[in-house]
Amino acid sequence: MQHEDQAAARAGAILSIDLDAVRANYRLLRERGVQGGGKAACAAVLKADAYGLGMPQVANALVREGCRSFFVAHLDEGIRLRQLIPSDCSIHVMHGAMPGAARDCVEHRLVPVLNDPGQVDEWRTLARELGRTLPAALQVDTGMSRMGLARSDLDRLRQDPDWLGGVDLQLVMSHLACADEPAHPLNERQRLRFDEVRALFPGVPASLANSSGVFLGQAWHADLLRPGCALYGIHPQPGQANPLAQAVSLAARVVQLRTVAAGDIVGYGARYVAPGERRIATIAIGYADGWLRALTGHSQAFVDGVAVPFAGTVSMDSITLDVTGIPDHRIAPGQAVDLLCAQQTVDDVANQAGTIGYEVLTRLGSRFHRHYIGI
Ligand SMILES: *Cc1c(COP(=O)(O)O)cnc(C)c1O
Repeated sequence: MQHEDQAAARAGAILSIDLDAVRANYRLLRERGVQGGGKAACAAVLKADAYGLGMPQVANALVREGCRSFFVAHLDEGIRLRQLIPSDCSIHVMHGAMPGAARDCVEHRLVPVLNDPGQVDEWRTLARELGRTLPAALQVDTGMSRMGLARSDLDRLRQDPDWLGGVDLQLVMSHLACADEPAHPLNERQRLRFDEVRALFPGVPASLANSSGVFLGQAWHADLLRPGCALYGIHPQPGQANPLAQAVSLAARVVQLRTVAAGDIVGYGARYVAPGERRIATIAIGYADGWLRALTGHSQAFVDGVAVPFAGTVSMDSITLDVTGIPDHRIAPGQAVDLLCAQQTVDDVANQAGTIGYEVLTRLGSRFHRHYIGI
């Protein structure tokens, strides 16, 4: 603990990750799946280091919460996750295996998501070579044209009655393109196409809904929910109240304070010219830490709950704030100012930067002192 205290004391910025919030969000999502007589189970998507929060800690918290089904994007993420969770938990690799890498899935007991005819063929061939059935999920594209068998591929493959010979098909899945826009007509279209696909695989569990899909309603739930962002507090339904708990907070420390006179410039490109005497605080975080340069002129930090605007271009390692009006006794070098807090969520920062919360979270850097709350 002493080491942790020392590390926190010297850190330029501190990222706090609330695993209790992640667990509460998982419970809320799981509850959605069984509301009104629904029967959908709830998996968790842990790709990209659990959206930047830390795969080991998040996986452990969710296992404790009863989650048994996990999704990652890359095979290497699956190999890493396999070491972290009990052997009865399933791990689906959404990209499947790259050509020639299918054996790694077997070795590490990962379930590849078969996305194209080549992946289907390799898995089937491997099963034959090994003389056993191998578990797999099948993704079918229902309108996003990103990943999964085209309907025409599926119809062609199905002409061979043995096209899944040796494959233990555990899941049929697809992915929604516009679930965060509930009124978008593609949601209904994809659901109907998915229902057709499911009907081709009677008895095989099906999965369609990402976080936003969970909130489209039960008709999109199928058998297994597949949320990622909502676990981490990102708002799955923009425009409505966010029912999920914020899971990260971020504070950066003041390195230096100065007073500038009217006409002085602050930061790269002289983009900020002091309109009068101003107090400027430089904090120890920048775009190398994921605090995007696009936030220049659009964001703010909080000193004891009081907003202080960015003044000048976001640098690689530092940001300059206009703290004029904050009394001297309330701000000093070493003091932490808040960047993600009750007054400013991940989604707020994403809006300021012209991006989405997913990108803000997954870009959070590696130089923070990380502090985990809960287990
Ligand atoms: C990332 C991903 C998810 C999770 O999406 P969220 O919007 O973060 O809930 C689910 N399914 C697939 C195929 C994905 O790529």
